[in-house]
Amino acid sequence: MAQVDKVVIVVFDGLRPDMIAGRMPTLAGFLDDNLWFRNARSVFPSLTRVCTTSVSTGAWPGHHGIVNNQFHLNGDLRGPMVDTGRLDHLRGLEARTGAMVTADSLGQRLAAAGRSMLAIHCGSAGSGVLINHAVHEIGHQTFSIYGEAATLTPEIVPHILATCGPLPGHEVPKLDIVAYTGRVATEVALAQDQADVTVVWLPEPDTSFHFCGIHSEGTELAMRAADTAFAEILGAVSGGAHASSTAIVALSDHGQIATSALIDLAGLMRADGFRAGEAPGVDVDILMTGGNMGELRPMSPDPGLIADLGRWLMGRDEIGMVFADPALVTGALPPSVVHQTHARSAELLFVMRSDETPGPGGIPGIGVYTGGVPLGGGMHGGLNPFEMNTVLGFAVPGGRRGEIDQSPASLIDIAPTVLELFGMDHQAQGRVLPVLEPEPGIATVERLRATSGAFEQELVRAHIAGRDYLIEGGRV
Ligand SMILES: [Zn+2]
Repeated sequence: MAQVDKVVIVVFDGLRPDMIAGRMPTLAGFLDDNLWFRNARSVFPSLTRVCTTSVSTGAWPGHHGIVNNQFHLNGDLRGPMVDTGRLDHLRGLEARTGAMVTADSLGQRLAAAGRSMLAIHCGSAGSGVLINHAVHEIGHQTFSIYGEAATLTPEIVPHILATCGPLPGHEVPKLDIVAYTGRVATEVALAQDQADVTVVWLPEPDTSFHFCGIHSEGTELAMRAADTAFAEILGAVSGGAHASSTAIVALSDHGQIATSALIDLAGLMRADGFRAGEAPGVDVDILMTGGNMGELRPMSPDPGLIADLGRWLMGRDEIGMVFADPALVTGALPPSVVHQTHARSAELLFVMRSDETPGPGGIPGIGVYTGGVPLGGGMHGGLNPFEMNTVLGFAVPGGRRGEIDQSPASLIDIAPTVLELFGMDHQAQGRVLPVLEPEPGIATVERLRATSGAFEQELVRAHIAGRDYLIEGGRV
């Protein structure tokens, strides 16, 4: 195997691989010239903090325990909802359960072998924590664009400010933040040879997809800016001392689809007699979260209520998928098929209905949601193919070049593949991706269907090398 002594991981939050061509020439060239896993996939729910933790642990949510961006905590449902975007909430999760993340991280495994990792994180504070959750215990460093109060290693912030100047503002599109991220990556992380593994997390195009729309001038500018930052990072690697021994990984954590209709799901449930709400209260006995997908958690164990809720969801045209124990809810798929098997997982999960219809600008993928961004803005979280398909490209010294690999791959494969590049042991749920030579195995595809009356749903999974992959799912 080629000798790899550095790995640079660049994350384009929310980027859809079908939108790269014509908008991001540097990234398009990188993927064409190197190895592109064109069928790479996210995890479920396809939400940033869940995805971040799957990248950092090589594990499904059922193992790492960040089961949703926001979730009510089983065993303490009268306590506050956990908002994983917030550092104080993640600390609270640790205090309430004994662990923030329940799987070992790439950072921890690297540290055990004496290797270092620096994350330049310019998404939410919570995602910046989850990319290397034990960072302060293992002597690694994570910089957050939100400053010293938002990172577990605040000592790096003044060091970066001294080189790159004051932190930028958060205007959308986040052109200033993307440019600043590029400078931190090139002028501090790479120029000063800070770490064995450098993670650069760009908040775009995710933020612009959400708030400017997937098809908009702001989004075009954001994608161009992210591409420019990537070009600067590639230049810093190729001009640096480790050019011939650095592997580069480019990825996104999920895609997005356009929101086409907004419904007040909790209001509809209440109108039909279910005491649903987003926070505990005197008139609430079912806690819910929403978006493109959501959870329902009865505040007291109640199999009859789960059955009633499942039937009610399946009777709504706006609902795409329902996950619950099929013994309780006829027509549901078990949460285990999407790896929602954690003690923190909800008993009942739903996905809002979506399809591949062209949305604004003719870009395919639209869906119903329960709120969170302006109507028409982009959203994610569900199992639509345009939410699930992610960017994943590898440039590895001595590795495959000029190839598109159509085999399934996933966020959970990144950590074990990086460890393998360093010649280290890995015990992740993901597989080591065939970045040096094509693998002999052929993927099989499995279609799981479940039906109740007029409601019919299908989940497509793929299997290779003893692993399974979530390809897409929806109502049929
Ligand atoms: Zn994201």
